[in-house]
Amino acid sequence: MSALRPTVDFLLYDWLKADRLNERARFADHSRETFDAVLDICERIAREKYAPFNRLVDTEEPRFDGEKVILPKATHDAHDAYVASGMLSAAQDYEEGGMQLPYTIEAAAGTFFATASVSIGGGLLTKGNANLLMVHGTGLQKEVFARNEFAGRFSGTMALSEPQAGSSLSDITTRAIPDGADFEGDPLGARYRLRGNKMWISAGEHELSENIVHLVLAKIPGPDGKLIPGTRGISLFIVPKMMVGADGQLTGERNDVALAGLNHKLGWRGTTNTLLNFGEGRYPVRVNQGGGLDGRGAGAIGYLVGKPHEGLRCMFHMMNEARIGIGLAATALGLAGYYASLDYARNRPQGRPVGPAGKDPAQPQVRIIEHADIKRMLLAQKSYCEGALALLLFCARLVDEQHTGTPEAAEEARLLLEVLTPVAKSWPSEFCLEANSMAIQVHGGYGYTRDFPVEQYWRDNRLNMIHEGTHGIQAADLLGRKVAMEGGKGLSLLALRINGTIERAIQQPHLAEHANALGQALQKVGAATKSAWATGNPADALANAVPYMQAFGHLVIAWTWLDVLLVLAPGSPRAADEGRLRAARYFFHYELPKIGAWLRVVETRDPTCATMPEEAF
Ligand SMILES: Cc1cc2nc3c(=O)[nH]c(=O)nc-3n(C[C@H](O)[C@H](O)[C@H](O)COP(=O)(O)OP(=O)(O)OC[C@H]3O[C@@H](n4cnc5c(N)ncnc54)[C@H](O)[C@@H]3O)c2cc1C
Repeated sequence: MSALRPTVDFLLYDWLKADRLNERARFADHSRETFDAVLDICERIAREKYAPFNRLVDTEEPRFDGEKVILPKATHDAHDAYVASGMLSAAQDYEEGGMQLPYTIEAAAGTFFATASVSIGGGLLTKGNANLLMVHGTGLQKEVFARNEFAGRFSGTMALSEPQAGSSLSDITTRAIPDGADFEGDPLGARYRLRGNKMWISAGEHELSENIVHLVLAKIPGPDGKLIPGTRGISLFIVPKMMVGADGQLTGERNDVALAGLNHKLGWRGTTNTLLNFGEGRYPVRVNQGGGLDGRGAGAIGYLVGKPHEGLRCMFHMMNEARIGIGLAATALGLAGYYASLDYARNRPQGRPVGPAGKDPAQPQVRIIEHADIKRMLLAQKSYCEGALALLLFCARLVDEQHTGTPEAAEEARLLLEVLTPVAKSWPSEFCLEANSMAIQVHGGYGYTRDFPVEQYWRDNRLNMIHEGTHGIQAADLLGRKVAMEGGKGLSLLALRINGTIERAIQQPHLAEHANALGQALQKVGAATKSAWATGNPADALANAVPYMQAFGHLVIAWTWLDVLLVLAPGSPRAADEGRLRAARYFFHYELPKIGAWLRVVETRDPTCATMPEEAF
């Protein structure tokens, strides 16, 4: 059993009562046994096919031989084992070949792959891509593209970013124009020709599957031929790498999507990352049909998903899911570093304890886990990463609630997810990365070498604050939109839930101190939210959005920890329960007080950063 499994089991069953999900009609055939069987299989595949190759995929980066992208054999083996496990379609309906697995269990199972080797990957993009098509695609788009993705024949990407447009997607310039007079008559969806460059596309080129289904954001020009400014102009297209017939079979034609180059990254090197050129004419496709762009026949063929100009709305479906996935990946990497540094600290002799008379050099050395400062760093990692895991699994449970709860419960889950998603993505990306930094520190000089795994965890984790909406963008989303949306309903509901936990915790003498601290933190965040918006000027409020998100995230993680403690039997003699109490205490004593400093600049709308003259840097 992995070090992670007991924590996952505890959070799923003791805390979230995930086994009760089978009271819902959709999950009626499931039980703790079927959930455990899924977790067992994923844990085994992660142990056998992922973990042993994590360093190899880091050192043997993807390379392009002029024709194909070459990945290590281990990546192919891991991919095949993942596909064979059925996890790509696990959450789908029985009629779709799925097992109607709750997302909570799917998400928990995913952590085993991410702790073992995050960059070999667990189908996050493919699943997200296919799930989007199941919601927004036509019947045939589901049949031809999504079902083949769930079966592992095809894999998926999300192609949003461009070299000049990352955070600001309204500035994308990839164009889509109707492909011939009959463009609306294509059985696979209204057919367009796309032209443009997409940067940073993960898994954009490889030989792991028969085909790659790119979901591409592009703009359909207005009647004047100009691109419509803003996000309004953005539409969504399926652009397959290899052309597919309405029967789902490859036609043998290559679509005009060309690899312009591989990006060489700091970490996460087991996954290819690509610059893709769409419609540059490298692979002219069906040049006699339609007419293509500029009368030259060039243009990648893409099929419209949903309505024109509603692409970003459709894409958000994939992005929200992806954000929970990124939070989980960050958490899993944090946990991997925690376990590695715990193991190291238990075995490394160094130094002697300080007693009232100082140190006695005649005494044997102690293991570093006996030093208070090492314990501090281990406890910090535990409190960050297990707290983040609890939050992420809670969010996954909300996703199930949204899909299978009563209408009232589903609505509450939706509102909570609106507010919690930016936190669930960003808080672990920052603090589980910090955990990885501490894991390196626990290792001393060895942690800084490639002889130990912790430097790679840190490098892999460094991505998570950047992709799927940067830290700054998520913070602006939280303070600028989510806490205020629908009259602040989501924030009020969250406060209600936090107060519910406080009321239960205050009844237990050993938790009362934490309950009071949480109550004060909640008040502070509420007051800061109001003060930030006191002038009504977004520039004032959002100037300190990141400190706000840090404080908000700390509040949420403290709440999560307190709620977790409520299920422990008071005075439990189990070491694991003692560990949870201590990790929570660490968080309340060492971390939660930090929110005072973060919120001070928010409340006063401190203009230090915003008004800094450029020439003064
Ligand atoms: C390894 C990797 C994998 C990726 N995978 C994919 C993928 O599969 N598909 C895809 O479409 N994209 C992908 N991305 C792209 C990723 O989503 C972008 O890098 C990200 O959105 C940031 O865009 P950018 O790099 O252009 O940076 P910029 O948008 O230029 O941002 C630079 C800095 O400016 C800040 N900033 C920008 N605008 C504002 C603002 N209005 N207010 C305050 N601060 C601001 C940002 O927070 C950031 O700190 C990937 C990126 C990487 C590195």
